Amino acid sequence: MIEEASACDFSLEHYDFILKKALQEGYSIQSLEQYFDRPLDPVLLLRHDVDVSIQYAGRMAEIEHRAGVRSTIFIRVHAAEYNPFSRQNYQCLRWLTDEGFEIGLHHEVGVFPLPGSTPREQLQRELTVLTAVLERKVRAATVHLPKHVRYTLDPSEFADLGIEYEGGAALFNEGGVFMSDSNRLKKPECLCRMLGKAPKILSTTHPVWWNRVDEDVDRMRSFLLGGN
Ligand SMILES: [Zn+2]
Ligand SMILES: [Zn+2]
Repeated sequence: MIEEASACDFSLEHYDFILKKALQEGYSIQSLEQYFDRPLDPVLLLRHDVDVSIQYAGRMAEIEHRAGVRSTIFIRVHAAEYNPFSRQNYQCLRWLTDEGFEIGLHHEVGVFPLPGSTPREQLQRELTVLTAVLERKVRAATVHLPKHVRYTLDPSEFADLGIEYEGGAALFNEGGVFMSDSNRLKKPECLCRMLGKAPKILSTTHPVWWNRVDEDVDRMRSFLLGGN
């Protein structure tokens, strides 16, 4: 038996508790790639949108690794606070891919349009950078700041560039519930309380909230909306 949750906070301890509870309740835990290739049921799908730090995502991945499960981690190539090719981050990405985690592109096409580039050119450029860093094919993408998108890419534009699935695709959502922690609010409720209520749960986390407990939500929102 695992210990009951002390509090539904945004700590790594609680994240660890959530994973163990899901496994104990009979859920398979999969990355989007694993589910795309071989869907299991009941299932908890793990997705991380990395807005400000690959190291934060790495800490959550270490917890997942210890639990014997994998997630999909979407990273940006335009972030002001991290460089995927910095020594530390590159090492982290190498470890993640070696251990079977999926790295996808957290793209910014349509959110921060670049003058003189078409959306397709922007997506191609972001994808080229990430593929070069990882030295492997990138199969998945999600959009950064989805509520602020002024141009939405359609599935054929992704497919043309080799992206096989979008993180919010119906495949991952249909017949299930979507849990998000945007603006440090667990919606519809903490994942630990959703377990057992649905046979399929897609969990989307932003690792910054689980690692920087004192971060000011409004400050972070305006920092990201500023294009950083
Ligand atoms: Zn909880
Ligand atoms: Zn984002």
